[in-house]
Amino acid sequence: EAFIPKIIEVNYIEGSGDKRWSSKDFPWTKQLEVNNKKVFGNHSFRPNQREIINATMSGCDVFVLMPTGGGKSLTYQLPALICPGITLVISPLVSLIQDQIMHLLQANISAAYLSANMEWTEQQEIFRELNSEYCNYKLLYVTPEKIAKSDVLLRNLESLHARELLARIVIDEAHCVSQWGHDFRPDYQGLGILKQKFPNTPVLALTATATASVKEDVVQALGLVNCIIFRQSFNRPNLRYSVLPKTKKCLEDVDKFIRENHFDECGIIYCLSRMDCEKVAEKLQEFGHKCAFYHGNMDPAQRAFVQKQWSKDEINIICATVAFGMGINKPDVRFVIHHSLPKSIEGYHQECGRAGRDGLRSSCILYYSYSDYIRVKHMISQGAIEQSSMTYGYSRSNMTNSGRILETNTENLLRMLAHFGEKFDSSTCQKTCDNCLKNTSFIEKDVTEIAKQLVELVKLTGQKVSSSHILEVYRGSLSQLVKKHRHDTLSLHSAGKHLAKGEASRVLHHLVVEDFLVEEVKKSDFYGSVSSILKVNDPKVRNLLLGGQRIILRFPSSIKASKLAKFEFTPAKGSLTSGKQNSHQIDTPAQPQTQVDMNLSAKL
Ligand code: ADP
Ligand code: MG
Repeated sequence: EAFIPKIIEVNYIEGSGDKRWSSKDFPWTKQLEVNNKKVFGNHSFRPNQREIINATMSGCDVFVLMPTGGGKSLTYQLPALICPGITLVISPLVSLIQDQIMHLLQANISAAYLSANMEWTEQQEIFRELNSEYCNYKLLYVTPEKIAKSDVLLRNLESLHARELLARIVIDEAHCVSQWGHDFRPDYQGLGILKQKFPNTPVLALTATATASVKEDVVQALGLVNCIIFRQSFNRPNLRYSVLPKTKKCLEDVDKFIRENHFDECGIIYCLSRMDCEKVAEKLQEFGHKCAFYHGNMDPAQRAFVQKQWSKDEINIICATVAFGMGINKPDVRFVIHHSLPKSIEGYHQECGRAGRDGLRSSCILYYSYSDYIRVKHMISQGAIEQSSMTYGYSRSNMTNSGRILETNTENLLRMLAHFGEKFDSSTCQKTCDNCLKNTSFIEKDVTEIAKQLVELVKLTGQKVSSSHILEVYRGSLSQLVKKHRHDTLSLHSAGKHLAKGEASRVLHHLVVEDFLVEEVKKSDFYGSVSSILKVNDPKVRNLLLGGQRIILRFPSSIKASKLAKFEFTPAKGSLTSGKQNSHQIDTPAQPQTQVDMNLSAKL
């Protein structure tokens, strides 16, 4: 009969930081250390590896959140090697499985895999081995489809279990369970049947991408009632994050940045389109950098050649789409620059995560512009963004989230970390984010009235002009364009004349990113530039105009808190924005200055 998932009471136990799991007094400790060195060739354990292994070998269900490249495989391969019986591993892609098996066989560990498109005789051979009195395999990899569709496999697992040979069940890339994840795989949802059938067999779920909602889904779908969670911070102290405004001189800025900070060092520049890769590479070559481009339109030999040149330091810089990255393990990448907005938060983490694997200081720079945001949105709606691999798949909603987070919090890295359910406090920052270094503080302001006026103005101008046109009218421009359309006679013409341009546009952009206004892309020329008009999203706007919603934005400020009180600024709310943590907010230098803030508050 069909497996019907039901909502269960879940009891999470935080594993990270619990001294019990880092103990070296477990009966298997000696064996762990010996095999880690001898079989896997590692000198030590990476953060959380020992703890995870101890927890799963103690028989607990364990949920692991660890960045890509963190070393998740070892946490089940090493237990598989020293525990009696066989470890079942569910993994989403045959190519990933084959890669793992190759490494295991090289280390002399017996492993096999089953997938739906394998020859039946081949499968039979594996089943025969599983049924043999003492099964030789230490690990059996299967795709989720196999669990869902193969009764033979389930019967074999039952038989193994009955003979006490089913040591552990591992769900790799566990975020595939969740519809909120970026790689949803329907068959992962049926994996709850494993816990139902084998309630006492420990389950180990592993992923690099777990937002709070994904984690919830995974734990529910797999039926992990009392699971121990190990999460690893995505905050890497040797990485220095900056978000910079993207101007017309962006490539000059990049050149200067590399010259001053990382000259002749190795780096990656992620670009949005294939054409961008080529243009950026060409320009940087002109500036005298040893640099090449890499994207999905090149033939495999060309790509392999470029990657090899880069790995051997014959060139320093690769300008690439996200097609570049899978399986790259170069330890001395000193900078990762995003020439455009990343396509998802998960992607951003993985791409930045390629910097500084050797633990030495490295830079992650993101050039942000609102027009890129619109451009990415447009490309997504056209299905034109290159999808390189499952790990980099993204969905519409991911992009919206990423854009939303970037725009509303002005490229706030901490919000991204918060997105991963992390609590971030200033003591853990280690002074690597822009604002700890600059000591910027922030205030929050209620901009609801400005927002309402801007929405009204979009209506008054007939929903057929661009955002820059709206801003001109709002700030009282008397340009020919405004005159020609008689927009200077509108009741809201110059209603925002006391505001700085940056301030009004910030509110307007917020309205687009939050879907109050829709920026409709009119055309996109060969070079990817777009022009657009603003429209009102009626259902969303109704509540705002009726006064049922306030809009609060954060602005940088150097004014002291006591001074602020006079101007009735809305005090910061919530853990991320309160007190001294304000100094952690990352903001663009292009934001309005204190003087403007005061004008604005006076108006409110
Ligand atoms: P993940 O699945 O978390 O992305 P992997 O398990 O594929 O990461 O491991 C990434 C790399 O790190 C592999 O090359 C692996 O050999 C290496 N690695 C894992 N654990 C250790 C360790 N304790 N010491 C050194 N290298 C390790
Ligand atoms: Mg892995």
